[in-house]
Amino acid sequence: MKEVFFVLDTIPLQVSPEDVLKQLGYPDKMSVPPGTHKKVDDEIGETQSLIEPKGAYCRLDGVPEKGFELFSAAEGIVLALATIGPKVERRAGKFVRTDRAATGVIADAIGTVAVEQTADFLERKIHEDCANFGWKVSRRYAPGYCGWAMEAQKEIFSHFSDTLGIKLTNSCLMIPEKSLSFVCLLSREGDFSKVKVGNCKRCRQKDCPYRSEPYKPRN
Ligand code: SF4
Repeated sequence: MKEVFFVLDTIPLQVSPEDVLKQLGYPDKMSVPPGTHKKVDDEIGETQSLIEPKGAYCRLDGVPEKGFELFSAAEGIVLALATIGPKVERRAGKFVRTDRAATGVIADAIGTVAVEQTADFLERKIHEDCANFGWKVSRRYAPGYCGWAMEAQKEIFSHFSDTLGIKLTNSCLMIPEKSLSFVCLLSREGDFSKVKVGNCKRCRQKDCPYRSEPYKPRN
């Protein structure tokens, strides 16, 4: 099976206060306590130089059997890794262990927003690059979501000779924690209907960050 490998180390990011406040659980401006906006602004300023976004992907013409059984109907697959490095989470951890826990929580939220943006950028790049080779590309799927086992991380990592400094623990957690792995599926005609995962309309995983349809509680 042919594999093509790419690394991206210039990824433009713009973490906005609004995204961080949303990540902290404030749905709108009215719900933000006084002073919090300034704390978030200040912390974005402090963490900016600590965010080191990187991404890599590996395009396979075909779908490996082991670990990717859910996606066997696809004609190809892209395996991807994204990270912002360890510095933001180290800063957040240092604050959480002291009496500045609130600042630590904000720094952690900035890290989460930054790594999601890194993955978004990488996903867009995958769509563009693969389109040049005549592929239609699905949305992204991550281990631990859509009924896909976390253990699949091991299979994803096994295809990367350079994992961008991300290490995988025995329990399939990534270190740095502000890292993500995912796959996108490839099809010549753009028909992903035979792939039996990712039906967001019916899925019960209410708080899934990758939800493409609003959650509807069952009566
Ligand atoms: S909401 Fe959608 S993306 Fe999230 S786990 Fe469910 S099917 Fe997957």
